[in-house]
Amino acid sequence: MTVTVATLGFPRIGPRRELKTALESYWAGKSHAEALLGTAAALRARAWAWQRELGADIIPSNDFSLYDHVLDTSVMLGAIPAAYGWRGGPVELTTYFAMARGGRPTAHEESCDCGAKHGTEGVPAMEMTKWFDTNYHYLVPEFASGQSFTLASTKVLDEYREAKALGIETRPVLLGPVSYLLLGKSKDADFDPLTLLPNVVAVYAQVLQALAAEGAQWAQIDEPCLVLDLDDAARSALHGAYAALHEAAPGLRLMLTTYFGGLGENLATALALPVQGLHLDLVRAPEQLGAVLAKAPTGLVLSLGVIDGRNIWRADLAALLEKLEPLKGREIVLAPSCSLLHVPLDLTRETALDADVRSWLSFAAQKIGELAVLAKALNEGREAVTVELAASSAAAEARRGSRKITDPTVQARLLAAGPDLARRASSFPIRQAAQRRKLALPLYPTTTIGSFPQTADVRQVRAAHDKGELDDVAYEAFLKQETARAIHWQEEAGLDVLVHGEFERNDMVQYFGERLTGFAFTKHGWVQSYGSRCVRPPIIYGDVSRPAPMTVAWWAYAQSLTAKPVKGMVTGPVTILNWSFVRDDQPRAATCRQIALAIRDEVVDLEEAGAAIIQIDEAALREGLPLRHADWAAYLAWAVECFRISASGVRDETQIHTHMCYSEFNDIMAAIGNMDADVISIETARSQMELLDAFNAYRYPAEIGPGVYDIHSPRVPDVAEMSALLTAAAAKLPAERLWVNPDCGLKTRGWPEVKAAIANLVLAAKAARAA
Ligand code: GLN
Ligand code: ZN
Repeated sequence: MTVTVATLGFPRIGPRRELKTALESYWAGKSHAEALLGTAAALRARAWAWQRELGADIIPSNDFSLYDHVLDTSVMLGAIPAAYGWRGGPVELTTYFAMARGGRPTAHEESCDCGAKHGTEGVPAMEMTKWFDTNYHYLVPEFASGQSFTLASTKVLDEYREAKALGIETRPVLLGPVSYLLLGKSKDADFDPLTLLPNVVAVYAQVLQALAAEGAQWAQIDEPCLVLDLDDAARSALHGAYAALHEAAPGLRLMLTTYFGGLGENLATALALPVQGLHLDLVRAPEQLGAVLAKAPTGLVLSLGVIDGRNIWRADLAALLEKLEPLKGREIVLAPSCSLLHVPLDLTRETALDADVRSWLSFAAQKIGELAVLAKALNEGREAVTVELAASSAAAEARRGSRKITDPTVQARLLAAGPDLARRASSFPIRQAAQRRKLALPLYPTTTIGSFPQTADVRQVRAAHDKGELDDVAYEAFLKQETARAIHWQEEAGLDVLVHGEFERNDMVQYFGERLTGFAFTKHGWVQSYGSRCVRPPIIYGDVSRPAPMTVAWWAYAQSLTAKPVKGMVTGPVTILNWSFVRDDQPRAATCRQIALAIRDEVVDLEEAGAAIIQIDEAALREGLPLRHADWAAYLAWAVECFRISASGVRDETQIHTHMCYSEFNDIMAAIGNMDADVISIETARSQMELLDAFNAYRYPAEIGPGVYDIHSPRVPDVAEMSALLTAAAAKLPAERLWVNPDCGLKTRGWPEVKAAIANLVLAAKAARAA
């Protein structure tokens, strides 16, 4: 029996982000739809040919998307909310992009890190949220009870044919009907999306029949929901759906694809479905292989996800072969653990990376090559790939033994760290009293979250500096001028606690990564975040330390210009971890503790320099939550401990703020309380302060800044609106514990809106004090 190689999905954006360029030019009205569609077709053709050259036997189609594959699924099913004005027939590109981006998006949409929708006017875009525990965002399907579905797009079929015309037989990819429904939401309370399943399955049945009629042998049907905690209703929905699909297209074989975790107690369900193949994520959940082998019906093709589709490390192929060789004789397919969408495309372009670090890495193209070597070794014996195996082993060994990854000082410091390191000297009430004496702030103190507009000007000057066209002295002078302007304006505006504005920061994680040891940065390692927006996550390859202060000089400069307190501003350890590619040779918690110590050093230095208030942003703490509830407690325990390590080096009278950009706290309230921050700012402007009920119910003791200004929109809220929000907050929490601030940083906004909105915010705070 031959072992084959499959890919489950390939990066869409193109080696030079061609898709981004084409999309943005089309959106800006600078090019026609034909140009965009032509670029997209060329990218698909290239991806198919490339995967084949790299050694993939089973190549996906319909993994490409102009924006998002969940949106594509909604379009396929005709699940288009009424607001977009679709009346049946083919779905126009304008409708598609209106769903993705809203009627008329603004220019700032592309530059924010919190992942929310920004600045759309006219018909709003559909809601966007993170795809499982990745940093990829999908458009959330919107459902209503009794909704009907109809086949509204032939994209799946078109792309299958398109590949075939190029001489490439593909395995079309579909997001499975149950996962699709579970990813959606409805405005109707108590609505159960699974009631829509029969109607949805009817459309899927049509699609599968059409694919079979075109000659497709297999389809890949993704049901990542199988790695989540499912209830009996969801499990029986899976049975019903797959029975119907099998009946509709009995000749088309289905590869049921699971990823991002193990099947766990859903294994029996998965194995009972009438499918011909099952894909397992053996990187996240290697332990499930034994049970699957023992219980899988003979004849079920197993697709083994042995190469990490979520991280950028090169595999140790000989070690993998030890595990795979005993399976010889069974029909197996080798694959990445999940779609390669979540890793950068090609390492060969990273010529500026440290040569050792580079030799330890593998991006999408290299990962397919690794799979091809494994398959060849299994089919022809290890002798057939001696050179490749030796190179892989040598790289693995070099990485394990490299002096570049270990720093004895960091390790010794961690070993010596006792529980005191994660504890402030005194409890919150004592600290609060000391801070009040020191700061003497008014009731309802006003502040902002940190960043001010990263205008085109700021970004151009930074780009010029990055390219070497502007020297350090000129760059610094420019940043100082921006900072000084921001300080003077904040004084004029009457804010109580000022910020320096973060003009020097390219990104809230990258800026710190570039100043810490153990981090590497790519030049082209883009990964799609949403639509045309891509990020280049830092790579943490070694022990982390902070050789020198990272933010103190900017804080000190800003503070030198004003008598009002300026907040020190740093990104927290959990957020730095969650937005990076993390080393896989030690637990994530261990890496996070190292980052926590480095941030602690910075926080202590800020205090030393005179900062009375220091904010440690943990924007990504919540999104790091594991997919299974059973794993939450362990994650939250170390994540909260890491935050506390970073925050606990300061004296009682130094006030620690934290900021979180989301509005779901109910289920993690105990952890938020355990962070023991003195002040937390949160996103609430759009939810009428409802969120504060969770803080109340938990008896959260410390101070809170519930956002009163929705920064995701260019709209300027008036005084009355913010006053109403403050009144609502004061009805839930004592006024002495409330701060007044926007929902998040202002980097994506323009100055005119910011100035107008902050002026209103200060007026609203003054009115509240007077009341
Ligand atoms: N201090 C950061 C800012 O204002 C926080 C951003 C965030 O949490 N996403 O931009
Ligand atoms: Zn935020």
